[in-house]
Amino acid sequence: MVEEFRHYFTKIEKLSSDELLRSAQKLVVSENTSIAKLIAHLAEMSSRKTALKLGYNSLYQYCIEGLNLSEGAVPARIHVANVSRRFPQLLVGLAERRISLTVAALLAPHLTEDNVEQVISDCAGKTRKKTEEYLVAIKPKPVFEPSIRKRPATTALDPSPRDTTAPAPAPSMSPSLSSPVLNHPPVETPKSSPSILQPARPAIFNFRFSADMEFKDKFERLAEVMGVENAQKNMAVILEKALDIALEKKDPKKKLERRRKRQSSAKEKSRSNEVTEKDEPAKSRYVASEVSERVHDRDGYQCVYLGLDGRRCTARVGLQLDHRKPFAIFRSNDEADLRILCASHNLLEAERVYGPAFIQQKIAEQRKSRSP
Ligand SMILES: [Zn+2]
Repeated sequence: MVEEFRHYFTKIEKLSSDELLRSAQKLVVSENTSIAKLIAHLAEMSSRKTALKLGYNSLYQYCIEGLNLSEGAVPARIHVANVSRRFPQLLVGLAERRISLTVAALLAPHLTEDNVEQVISDCAGKTRKKTEEYLVAIKPKPVFEPSIRKRPATTALDPSPRDTTAPAPAPSMSPSLSSPVLNHPPVETPKSSPSILQPARPAIFNFRFSADMEFKDKFERLAEVMGVENAQKNMAVILEKALDIALEKKDPKKKLERRRKRQSSAKEKSRSNEVTEKDEPAKSRYVASEVSERVHDRDGYQCVYLGLDGRRCTARVGLQLDHRKPFAIFRSNDEADLRILCASHNLLEAERVYGPAFIQQKIAEQRKSRSP
């Protein structure tokens, strides 16, 4: 097998970039078709109770221990398998890559004979987030009452009833959908942790998280400081205020706004003795923080790297300032010559300009100098 992949690498090294892309796309098509077919198998195994017969306590356990699927991969497959006989359109959408597996699993409990075609076509190409928003628009969820509750203590030795008994029916917003289909009952409900943040109504979100005593004390203290009575009921108001304060302090956009205000008054005074240093070569790579802030603002706080097909990278964290014209040659810290890139694209660009060998050597040197 190792030899096989060594040969495979030798083979794909010889492909042109276009051929490499086409080959990857072909693999995605065959992967999606395989997933759809595997899901059909799971539905059939479920009706034959194959997993139970093999000694696994559930199809979920069989998928993980018998088929070696990753724990993260199983719930979505089972959610889709649950309804795949009734709505084979889901499998078709998957195989044809119109919807992703994640989206198919989200849609599964909401399908009816009347809406299946429409829902799948509406969600074609949607991300998980967009699909969740679509679903709450057609079927709003209850909005949480704000509350602080002590979480019941559970131990590892105290399995929840669902772990030991027959699988519960699939949770569903609509009672009519959770009723098992004749001959082919739902496969099973896989365990998956509930999402922390979920849309409840088109413009309302439910948050759910656990925090320690210290967090609770801080929260109540903040309510006192803000003079808010009934802290729990006004949880959203209090937390929003805390977020405003944190953003005011930490958000580079706000910093830039403040700096601009300060400077606009200072500029008025010093306009007469302005010195233009623009064309002189810079002595170091150091970029003044005000310049860095302006470049971040200009580039919209997002990596500006454009892919071959013109797609802009969507990274918004871990952004780095990059010299568009190599600093070693042009020695310019001019605002127009700077841009922001994510770490991965910064490295990619550095390798393109200086060559991968040179960059790898630099990284190794840096690592060496850091270690004692
Ligand atoms: Zn990027």
